[in-house]
Amino acid sequence: MSDVLELRELVKDYPGQRALAGISLAVPRGSFFSLLGPSGCGKTTTLRMIAGFEQPTSGDVLLSGERVNDRKPYERNVSTVFQSYALFPHFTAQQNIEFGLRQRRAPDIGKRVAEALALVSLTGKEERRPAQLSGGERQRVALARSLVVQPDVLLLDEPLAALDPKLRKQMRLELKAMQRRVGITFLLVTHDQEEAMSMSDQLAVMNEGRIEQVGAPEDVYLRPANRFVAGFLGAVNWIGGVGVRPEATRIGGMDGQAKACPTSGRQRRGAVTGSVFLGDSVEVSVRLETGEHVIAQAPRGAAALQAGEAVGVWWDAAEELKFP
Ligand code: ADP
Ligand code: MG
Repeated sequence: MSDVLELRELVKDYPGQRALAGISLAVPRGSFFSLLGPSGCGKTTTLRMIAGFEQPTSGDVLLSGERVNDRKPYERNVSTVFQSYALFPHFTAQQNIEFGLRQRRAPDIGKRVAEALALVSLTGKEERRPAQLSGGERQRVALARSLVVQPDVLLLDEPLAALDPKLRKQMRLELKAMQRRVGITFLLVTHDQEEAMSMSDQLAVMNEGRIEQVGAPEDVYLRPANRFVAGFLGAVNWIGGVGVRPEATRIGGMDGQAKACPTSGRQRRGAVTGSVFLGDSVEVSVRLETGEHVIAQAPRGAAALQAGEAVGVWWDAAEELKFP
């Protein structure tokens, strides 16, 4: 698969601040790729330079192998779904979606808009203005408007951030399915690790204007390159210098399961300090004899553990996260 987008050593300096400190990245054509990182790490700045709204201080942006640094935004075949959606409030859904096609004097506008409306499940609502649509529907209009021009890359800046949690989860699945159906490369920016992991073929973890690691979600979660990546993608217990995820941290009463655990050295004694019932599981906090605090994500039965109770904690060697 060829790369539809490539970034080479992108640097962006703002007065008194380096927002990007050399970003290099290759995005395969037709993939769902995410930039994941905390607020302020440079995700939006990266997207703005790809779209051409912003000039890099140094470095190159390549689309389908061609350097596009000197091209205006409308001369780059990319399309952006903004965090705020940026719909025209006085236009109907239909008018918003067809706007880009009209500007480009594209053929078959009616047919293409109808297809885009169907793709985002808005058929029948084409005459409504943004104020007459729900938040989720407005977001679909924004998506349809960007997809209908068939960009090489669709840039999405925290597209689900404004939706309520339930709708956000549902839209993850829909976005992914939509990307597969249209085959257009999606480059999504998010600070939400679950979002990035659930949708992406590959993700790049960013921190302070740099890329820390690029890989498939499983690779990055199970084999994080460093402590930052490990901690950003999920909770980590640090036990004697190694990291163990809460779901890999086993727990049992001292006279029960704990005795059955292999005497591998990968076990500790401790005392329960509290537990949080999560419905499908229980998060048990334990203070180890070594003084370290760990959290074990345990089956619901562990809710019976009382604060102060002595427990054993153990884990599999294969589950350890180790860093130099
Ligand atoms: P993210 O999208 O990951 O939250 P941004 O790309 O928006 O981060 O910002 C990266 C850094 O660059 C931040 O520290 C931000 O304050 C700074 N920054 C972004 N845009 C500007 C600007 N126009 N002028 C000055 N600093 C900016
Ligand atoms: Mg941002």
